[in-house]
Amino acid sequence: MPLVEPPSSFVFHRRLGKEMPVIERGQGAVVWDRSGKRYLDGSGGAVVVNIGHGRREVAEAMAAQAAAAAYVHGTQFTSAVLEEYARRLAVHAPGDCNRLYLVSGGSEANETAVKMARAYHVAEGRPSRHKVIRRSVSYHGNTLGTLALSGRPGLRAPYEPLLPRSPEVMAPFCYHCPLGRAWPECDVACVDDLEAVIRREGADTVAAYIAEPIIGASAGAAAPPEDYARRAREICDRHGVLTIADEVMTGFGRTGRWFATEWSGVVPDILTCGKGMSGGYMPVGGVLASERIVAALSRARGGFVHGFTFSHNPVTAAACLATLDVLERERLVERAAGMGEKALLRLGALRAHPHVGDVRGRGLMIGVELVADKPSRRPFARAEQRAEGVGAEAFRRGLITYPGGGGASGPDGDTVLLAPPFVVTEAEIEEMAAILDYSLTALGL
Ligand code: PLP
Repeated sequence: MPLVEPPSSFVFHRRLGKEMPVIERGQGAVVWDRSGKRYLDGSGGAVVVNIGHGRREVAEAMAAQAAAAAYVHGTQFTSAVLEEYARRLAVHAPGDCNRLYLVSGGSEANETAVKMARAYHVAEGRPSRHKVIRRSVSYHGNTLGTLALSGRPGLRAPYEPLLPRSPEVMAPFCYHCPLGRAWPECDVACVDDLEAVIRREGADTVAAYIAEPIIGASAGAAAPPEDYARRAREICDRHGVLTIADEVMTGFGRTGRWFATEWSGVVPDILTCGKGMSGGYMPVGGVLASERIVAALSRARGGFVHGFTFSHNPVTAAACLATLDVLERERLVERAAGMGEKALLRLGALRAHPHVGDVRGRGLMIGVELVADKPSRRPFARAEQRAEGVGAEAFRRGLITYPGGGGASGPDGDTVLLAPPFVVTEAEIEEMAAILDYSLTALGL
């Protein structure tokens, strides 16, 4: 036998070959690694941690449920905790879009939503409707089905042959307007592309339109122009197309509202969520379906043919319910709105840097976009990995951010997302901005 060095780790890591610190504990908006180094969690990891780290009440609720009944199959039992959670969540859900299908992640939620939309049309006697329209700049997940719906050239490239085609419409991304226009003079002309694509594809083949109410990682917290959502909804209604709002990142208070659809007041047919739903205490995703979807699928022969082993899980529901309790009791959604305004103001000062093109966002979901040239908004080449460079420099200095690539032009574009827990203090916002400031200066940006 040849002598083979054993690997230093048997974990197949997300970044192969990268040295990573070992996490020890977290409290509020701060985490510490095993060496004692302190990090300000400026992005809640991947925009997940909303109620803050180290919440004993969530851990205890999960432990109590796990001790009582950790697992039952979703086709055989329901649980008091899941029933209670869905009832409490319905109070915050938009309109009648309030019937919860609980799953284990955002990608699962979007897969479920797409199948729900398709199953709805089949149940209603329209089996030709199967296409899901997506946006040119978007992210809906990393499973094959949700990657196929994501406008992320860099993530798609290696898997392109495996991805089913889905019709694309231009994203309402004002800083890089696909029509080269500006709001309000543009009169939201980008929304007309949705109508054109539905007509081109044939409305009787289109099942749904999926969109993030505020574009998250792929565009760095870009809100559409006022009126976009209402007009998109009108177009979809006119053509019998369902709307799916992907609130995996924006939901549960992140934008200063319980759900970002509240900014437009437009209620979707189906809403997906995840991330902050459990504050990071449990892997989770959820689909909220409106009454007409549930009614049609209740009438369908065979019901909704779908399911995951870990859907409708009682321990997941316990984590979500305890998270909801904290959000309500401490009025953290309102706090996210207030702290978000302060953070946007403070981070807005970063525009003084020669390569910070834009600072934008709602609530505590704020994007800092880097550009090669400010007047033309020309992005850096993706290969330069500018956002990742800022992320690494900030991390070294003790600030966690969420860098992202793409959005500006094809694979190019650099944004750094800031999305701290809602318990973040003004002093921590100041610290976050200062570390970013130093990091940008150190990198000549
Ligand atoms: N949808 C949006 C808008 C997201 O931001 C994400 C994750 O970043 C997802 C879906 C996928 O969620 P998950 O990574 O939990 O599968």
